[in-house]
Amino acid sequence: MIELTKEQLDIKKAAREFAEREIPKYSKECDEKEEFPWDLWRDSCKHGFVGVFIDEAYKGQGYGYLENALIWEEFHGIDPGCGFATLGTTIGAETLLVNGNEDQKLTYLPPLVKGKAIMAIMVTEPQAGSDVAGIKTKAEKIGNYWVINGTKTFSTNGSIADYAIVLARTEDSGERHRRFSTFIVDLKEDGVERRKLTGKLGMRASDTAEITFKNVHVPKENLMGKRGGGFYHIMDFFNRSRTWVAAQAVGAAKGALGFAIEYSREREAFGNKIASFQAIQFKIAEMATKLEAARLLAYKAAYMLDKGEINPVFSAMAKWYAAKIAVEIVDEALQIHGGIGYFSDHPISRFYRDVKAIEIYEGTKEIEKWLIGRRILGVQ
Ligand SMILES: Cc1cc2nc3c(=O)[nH]c(=O)nc-3n(C[C@H](O)[C@H](O)[C@H](O)COP(=O)(O)OP(=O)(O)OC[C@H]3O[C@@H](n4cnc5c(N)ncnc54)[C@H](O)[C@@H]3O)c2cc1C
Repeated sequence: MIELTKEQLDIKKAAREFAEREIPKYSKECDEKEEFPWDLWRDSCKHGFVGVFIDEAYKGQGYGYLENALIWEEFHGIDPGCGFATLGTTIGAETLLVNGNEDQKLTYLPPLVKGKAIMAIMVTEPQAGSDVAGIKTKAEKIGNYWVINGTKTFSTNGSIADYAIVLARTEDSGERHRRFSTFIVDLKEDGVERRKLTGKLGMRASDTAEITFKNVHVPKENLMGKRGGGFYHIMDFFNRSRTWVAAQAVGAAKGALGFAIEYSREREAFGNKIASFQAIQFKIAEMATKLEAARLLAYKAAYMLDKGEINPVFSAMAKWYAAKIAVEIVDEALQIHGGIGYFSDHPISRFYRDVKAIEIYEGTKEIEKWLIGRRILGVQ
């Protein structure tokens, strides 16, 4: 059982009120133009909603992943694209908090919560996404620098971020998963080339880019965590980030269900409100039940993390299930709207496009189930 405390309920309420008031000003235009909502991001930082899981020592609020999830849920309930764009600006801070040294944390974390910098995490490459150990980007130690060469793709915030956690191959031999290291790379360094990727189906307010590193010299002090431990530092990230991804899905599903309820009460057919038809009532019942189950799973995964219990199975279950039901709920919500839901004037069509991404990034739905199944069965 997870009962939210008064403080957690207050945080959720404050996030909902802010999101309801501010996000609609940006959602349609940022989606249409594939533009990042700069003012919304600054305002969200000013109001203390960004990076709340970051410790107070690094100017964060020092809350947990549960409080973080509550905020993500509320922002995504209004608009998934703007929610992701705004709150996703700290992406990568999850592993920096765990694996970075004190100097790195003091340098790179405070600007994220103050609205002075944006971060990215660069793992995926054109030839390797799910197979993280299949990446080719290389970092070679030359004197006091690591020299990075390679290409990263689909990086959230890639063309607007100030710095990024970059996974690169540093060892030529040894166990397959121990050949990598993570670096904090200043994206203004010589040799960093960035290309914004346009044409995403959804989440279009969120920036996505391809980045090429050509002999980029990174000071040796910017190695994050252990040399050879990079693969595991990325897994540390996923174990934590999947709680906010699950919350994205819960929020989007909640928003879509809200639209469906409202429309069912208004729309008439055959001389009655469509809410009076049992077929519609069954749809709403199924949507609401799935949402409740996903929310419990998402809160539980975050709560376990906050208790210090790092269990990849719970994060993966929450992420997989919440994304799955979000796709289903948004689909049914659009169906309930009939033809009007199919047009861009209604936000449900945007939700429909946005939620699909949640089944792909931070581990596809197949990878999540693979992880859960292997762990339960004890199979390597
Ligand atoms: C909007 C968006 C934002 C993103 N942001 C980031 C980011 O910030 N940083 C970053 O590094 N990446 C990011 N990504 C990339 C994302 O993490 C990858 O797209 C994802 O991990 C899948 O990798 P892939 O596209 O290479 O597909 P592949 O790994 O090539 O998979 C193709 C298909 O095969 C399936 N598959 C693969 N292996 C298995 C298996 N063993 N068993 C069963 N099925 C399997 C997959 O599930 C998928 O359906 C983002 C992607 C999107 C769409």
